[in-house]
Amino acid sequence: MPTRATKRGAERTRLDRDCDVLVCGASFAGLAVARELRETGADVLLIDRYEIGERQTSACGIPTGWLEQLDLQDALQQTFGELVIHTPYTTVNYRLPWTFSTFDYRTLCELLAEQGSFTFETAKVNGRTAQTVHTDRGDIRAAHIVDGLGWRRVLGAGENIQPPDALLSRGLEVHPNGSGTDMEIWIDRSYVPAGYGWSFPAGAEVRIGVGSFDPRFHVREPTERLAEDLKAPAVRYQGNWIPHALREAAEDGVYFVGDSAGHCLPLTAEGIRTALYFGLAAGRELRGVLAGRRSAEEALTSYAAFSASHATAFRWMLRCQRLIPRVAPSLLAGSLRAMQSRRFLDWAFGHYLEIAHPRFVAAGSRGARLPISPSVP
Ligand SMILES: Cc1cc2nc3c(=O)[nH]c(=O)nc-3n(C[C@H](O)[C@H](O)[C@H](O)COP(=O)(O)OP(=O)(O)OC[C@H]3O[C@@H](n4cnc5c(N)ncnc54)[C@H](O)[C@@H]3O)c2cc1C
Repeated sequence: MPTRATKRGAERTRLDRDCDVLVCGASFAGLAVARELRETGADVLLIDRYEIGERQTSACGIPTGWLEQLDLQDALQQTFGELVIHTPYTTVNYRLPWTFSTFDYRTLCELLAEQGSFTFETAKVNGRTAQTVHTDRGDIRAAHIVDGLGWRRVLGAGENIQPPDALLSRGLEVHPNGSGTDMEIWIDRSYVPAGYGWSFPAGAEVRIGVGSFDPRFHVREPTERLAEDLKAPAVRYQGNWIPHALREAAEDGVYFVGDSAGHCLPLTAEGIRTALYFGLAAGRELRGVLAGRRSAEEALTSYAAFSASHATAFRWMLRCQRLIPRVAPSLLAGSLRAMQSRRFLDWAFGHYLEIAHPRFVAAGSRGARLPISPSVP
């Protein structure tokens, strides 16, 4: 069990205060929002139940361009120019038009945090009444509130979504020591009927896991079996629910960013770059409000519209997510082989990257308005 760095019990002091912006959740989404609020002069408070970078929430794979654009290369562990896909009938090597990298979670979070200017406190968020957020250390009142708390959407209005009925996937991985050269995935029903297994080498460890798009399917046994098949011990478990449908990105005056808004891509369960991307977008809207360029309501509406403008791409990926398990494995193998042409891969992966392109980082620093989302044809 990882040790908890956060102070507990009597060591915890009261936290009862006001602030301009309260960002709840200090992972990818929350840190990206906070980054955009640097040098605004606003009183920005970031809270999380754990210390920054304390709890890894994923296999930490991302298009390398995002690390470069955000100046986070020091967190980079390993880079891959190919994606290796195994099925029971074939193995294909897709040469990517851009590279993918694994990174160290703690280092990345710390580097991203250094780019913002905010106060950080550890506190568990329990809920919200209007502009007051209730935590286990007291109530915090804020003019602007961001929920970057992940799939639970703790600050949402009404009942929270609960698995297994909600549109959530299930993911679990182990982190044995070891090394590898390939970023590999398995589309194989013997591991998971709808979903995939993966092995992402990251320096001195390999992140081996299984994700199921059907929340009722348990992934512990197949994760352990995949590790065993790869001759790696199943140690250091890490798992979570992963939303795979967009939700309202603004509700009741609150910004929802990353998994809390269902920003994880439904086909691949890639949710880091989208959490960063929508986090930057929300942060830029808030920046406009703090600078007096627009009202709080205008900013929320604009952010919600920006998120919703990606709905077509998300719908397409959800369709593919549902279609793939229905395709006969032999036919799937043939289709994957047919898609190996350079031209097709450039097109497909180019569109996939466009959904949340790393150029968005620089676009904002030049003061550009939120672009209209590209849609996947
Ligand atoms: C096994 C697995 C592997 C994955 N691998 C990848 C991958 O390689 N690449 C990729 O792009 N995506 C991956 N994902 C998806 C990715 O992890 C998420 O989409 C991403 O972490 C979303 O970022 P976020 O900042 O919105 O939420 P999170 O990263 O979930 O962060 C939420 C933050 O809120 C805090 N928090 C939660 N509840 C409370 C509370 N009540 N009070 C206070 N704080 C709270 C948490 O401590 C955490 O810091 C993976 C998911 C899983 C489950």
